Amino acid sequence: MRRVLEPMKLLTADHVLPVSSPPIGDGGVLVSEGRITAVGPAAALREDFPDVPEDRFPGSAILPGFVNCHSHLELTVLRGLLDDLDHDFAAWLIRLTRLRAEALSDEDIADSALAGALEGLKAGVTCFGDIGRWGRAGFTALKSSGLRGVLFQETEFLPDGATAESDFIALMEKIGGLRETETDRVRVGISPHSPYTVSPALFELLAEVSRKEGFKVTIHAAESDAEQELLTGKGGFFAEIFEQYGVRWTPPGVRSIEYLSSTGILETAPLLAHCTKADENEIRLITESGSKIAHCPKSNAKFGHGVAPLSRFLESGIEVGLGTDSMVSNNVCDLLEEARFAALAARIASLSAFFIQPSDALRLATLGGAEALGLEEGTGSLEPGKAADLIAVSLREVSRLPVNDVESALVFASGAGDVEMTMVAGDILYRDGFCAGADEDRLRARMTEIGSRLREAL
Ligand SMILES: [Zn+2]
Repeated sequence: MRRVLEPMKLLTADHVLPVSSPPIGDGGVLVSEGRITAVGPAAALREDFPDVPEDRFPGSAILPGFVNCHSHLELTVLRGLLDDLDHDFAAWLIRLTRLRAEALSDEDIADSALAGALEGLKAGVTCFGDIGRWGRAGFTALKSSGLRGVLFQETEFLPDGATAESDFIALMEKIGGLRETETDRVRVGISPHSPYTVSPALFELLAEVSRKEGFKVTIHAAESDAEQELLTGKGGFFAEIFEQYGVRWTPPGVRSIEYLSSTGILETAPLLAHCTKADENEIRLITESGSKIAHCPKSNAKFGHGVAPLSRFLESGIEVGLGTDSMVSNNVCDLLEEARFAALAARIASLSAFFIQPSDALRLATLGGAEALGLEEGTGSLEPGKAADLIAVSLREVSRLPVNDVESALVFASGAGDVEMTMVAGDILYRDGFCAGADEDRLRARMTEIGSRLREAL
């Protein structure tokens, strides 16, 4: 995307929520050369900068853009296609892997990722932590749509250690290619898929190279009971699948995070996705290693995996962001809905005295996500010096009124459809229904066409 720097501009709205500090009534954000230069009451900013043009969002809230720190953009076109298998996670993974390998071309995957990026932009997402099997698709989608993000290139699914060396070399080749075209906005990391699909030998190689090269790492971890049963040697359906496919794998006899710790990968302070089934000892290991968590409450619920102990994560001081997971397992990219669900599910689980408030939920969706990706110095809140990654959310609908508490109105009464403007590094990428530079008609036609082909391939 061609970068056109906006001149200095004052954005004002009925509410400005910096997230790192309390909401400001009738507030403003001054943006210059892609960065935030001042945040405060609109009247004071107008007085200090009388010649700067003002862009007013009446009846709206301006807040930092949402950070979706666990997504799989390339899978967007599979939305709704595997819902009949949500109750059987192993069968779900097998069908997903088969469809990805057999029924989708490189062009399909590229457009799928692009459609996912577009959906995110329209929902106020300014930054993704995206995992790609075909890493280039998500990487290109993020770059061409102007988004910020980290693309985590995924490993092969081979728990058998015999191929660890060659899998490692293949991954490093892919990473090298992606790194050559990294930008300020879009970075590259690695994703060993999970404790049960990556061999201990490969984990050790990846831990070493990540420590040396400073790669960002993300791993699906402690996601389900089946995973914990497999690792602790108690059998379960993953063990049956391994047997069925003749996979040679010896259970380590410990729980998921304990196992990851033993491979050395926790020393890279990875971003751990899900952690639905993390117990107190695993939470301690996450805390002590400085690892972070991508909390995916809707995906966990959709699979029936349960409610992750979010309150315990936050009480322990772990940096937690929100992830939608893929559109196959959500099925929408709506960070306000995700934040609402996170708050409600945590209140249902009520595992501790930490009662999630709307302000906590908004923080998870913004600054928490930036921290989870290690990008908090440059984005995630409205503060002078940070990139102008921000959104305007309309609160004008009668169903949102009256706005007695703006944080509550956003978390408990609003959704992605209320987002009216998305800005990344000062560039307005979405406004009033239109995405800058995106051919939405073409993408709509492509999603429909690929979808009908996939249904035939089931
Ligand atoms: Zn995932």
